[in-house]
Amino acid sequence: DIRLSSISKSFGGPAVVNNVDLEIGSGEFLVILGPSGCGKSTLLRLIAGLEEVTSGTVEIDGRVMNRVDPGRRGCAMVFQNYALYPHMSVAGNIGYGLRVEGVKRAERSARVTEIARLLELEALLDRKPAQLSGGQRQRVAMARAMIRNPSVFLFDEPLSNLDAKLRASMRIEIKRLHRQLGTTSVFVTHDQLEAMTMADRMVVMNGGRIEQLGTPQEIYRRPATAFVAGFIGTPA
Ligand code: ATP
Ligand code: MG
Repeated sequence: DIRLSSISKSFGGPAVVNNVDLEIGSGEFLVILGPSGCGKSTLLRLIAGLEEVTSGTVEIDGRVMNRVDPGRRGCAMVFQNYALYPHMSVAGNIGYGLRVEGVKRAERSARVTEIARLLELEALLDRKPAQLSGGQRQRVAMARAMIRNPSVFLFDEPLSNLDAKLRASMRIEIKRLHRQLGTTSVFVTHDQLEAMTMADRMVVMNGGRIEQLGTPQEIYRRPATAFVAGFIGTPA
C-alpha cells in the first residue's frame, strides 16, 4: 500500500501539493482527477521520488521512502509522452531496464518474452518503434515499466495521445494487467469518463488539495464541494 501523510511540495512559491493525506490500498486502482495545474503530476512524482517532498512522509509497503532513490521504490511510471529509444528494437526497449541492472542476456530474454506475451507484443519484438501504431508503442512503454516487477504502477495521463477507440481498449487492457499483476495503481487523468470507468476509488484535486475521495458513484451522487459538483458536472 501507499501512505501519504501531510505531504506538501513547493518549488519556492506557494505549495503546489498542499498537505495531502492519502492511503491507497494494496491492489487498489486509484484515479486522480482534476484540472490542469492542480498538482496531479507533482503528486505522482513525489510518490515515485522524482521530486522530494518539502514536508510530510511517503510510505510504500510500510517503508518510509523520503530518502530512497526513485530506482529503489518499487514504482514504475508510465507517461503520456512515453519516449521509446528509436534505434532499439521493441525487445531492446522492453529489456533496457534489466540491461542497465546488469541482468544476464538469457534471463533478460526470457523476461522480455514473458512480458511481451502478456501484452500481446510477441510478434513485434524485432520491429523498431517507428514501425508501430500508437497503441502498440504505448504497450511497449508499459512492458518496459512492468519488466522490473513494480509493486506500484504510476500512470500520468498515459492515454491522452491516443484516439478514442484505442483509448477505450487500452483502459480495459490496463485494468486487466493491474488485476493480473496485483499491483497498486495510481492513474492520473483529466478525463472524467476515464476516471469513472476505471477507478476503484477516485480523488478529485484542486489547487494542490484533495477536494474529495470516494468511489465514482459516491462522488457523482454526492459531490462534497461546489468545485467537485462543477467539475463532475452534477448539481451540488
Ligand atoms: P496537467 O493536467 O496540466 O498535467 P497537473 O495537475 O499535472 O497539470 P502539475 O504538473 O503537478 O499539474 O503542476 C502543478 C503546479 O506546479 C503548476 O502550477 C506548475 O506550474 C507547478 N510546477 C510543476 N513542476 C514545477 C517545477 N519543476 N518548478 C516550478 N513549478 C512547477
Ligand atoms: Mg500533469
